[in-house]
Amino acid sequence: MLGNGSESHERLGFTDVKFWVQWRWNNRRENEYDFGDLDRLTDLAEKNGLRVTFNTIFDVAPVWLYEKYPDAKQLANDGRRIEPYTVGHRQGGGHPGPCYNHPGALEARKAFMRQAILHFRDRKGVRFWDVWNEPELSFPQRDAQLDRLVCYCDHCRAEFIGWLQRKYRDIETLNRIWGRCYNDWEEVELPRNTETIKDFIDWRLFHSYTMTREAQWRLEMVRELAPEQAAYLHVVPNTMQPFNAVSTCTDDFAVAEMCDVFAATMNNGPFFTPQVLSAAGVRYVTTSKAISTAGELRRIRPCWAWTICCTTSFRKSDWASKDSSSGSTDPRCWASKRRRGVSRSSTEPTARSPEPLRGSSGHWPPSPIN
Ligand SMILES: [Zn+2]
Repeated sequence: MLGNGSESHERLGFTDVKFWVQWRWNNRRENEYDFGDLDRLTDLAEKNGLRVTFNTIFDVAPVWLYEKYPDAKQLANDGRRIEPYTVGHRQGGGHPGPCYNHPGALEARKAFMRQAILHFRDRKGVRFWDVWNEPELSFPQRDAQLDRLVCYCDHCRAEFIGWLQRKYRDIETLNRIWGRCYNDWEEVELPRNTETIKDFIDWRLFHSYTMTREAQWRLEMVRELAPEQAAYLHVVPNTMQPFNAVSTCTDDFAVAEMCDVFAATMNNGPFFTPQVLSAAGVRYVTTSKAISTAGELRRIRPCWAWTICCTTSFRKSDWASKDSSSGSTDPRCWASKRRRGVSRSSTEPTARSPEPLRGSSGHWPPSPIN
């Protein structure tokens, strides 16, 4: 669409364009970063007056990372190491990425993120950093099969025990709650099934904490290095399958608190809109328009280095206002009206939300029990 001279983006009412910044694609050797393809796309966007969102994609880890850190591969409940693979929505391979708690892999993610932000932060067209595309613990876990649950590696075990120590303070309290007789923390066994309930709930809360902590450093890095650009991520609303808080361990409400705006992939589920708006609170919401553009997005998706998607924006007050032309209160009708060329209103989000929130409000780290 860009650069073909047809100016079709104007005819379609596009104001923004999103490009993927893919770890595997743009960091093919350790300490080597090549953003040339994204430079060219950004040039085209700026030339055409489009605002740019960069969406960092980390669940496509480079080959060199797996070679350097074989133990960074996630370890499933059944003892299987999750080897990197390709999947329809990650066609360059490297999915689902390393264990979130592997220190070497974490430093590599941070280095890539830092390089990407430093490279693009002075581009005038860049307005948003979408730091996580649909957070989930791992793709194989969407069907919530216990044997596929991750991650059981030594790094996760150490992090989990630290989390338990902050929550329970002493091993006697853990023993009382879990019904165990451990002599010390090093004897703690990772929960393997749901039959004893309390330990497994802690295990899953720890996973949710891990996801929220990952979101936090990504968002904070944008604020540190590119304070004039907005930082957010976009979830799949976690109300229903295949994405929900149980299978993905993503807490929409906790991550939304740390975002300048909040965003979601919308698949036309009946509960998606209220959930996203509830999680977003006072923040502006940006959502991909899935109904009428689904076919277009599918046609675009096979591109190797990047994908592109249409976004529009609304906020809670707009959701409540009735669209007089259609008689509908559906926010997508408001969005549709925008795309048909209605001029920007005073509700247009700026680069940064009017009420950016730093940090969370107590969801994590877990407070000690009483
Ligand atoms: Zn792990």
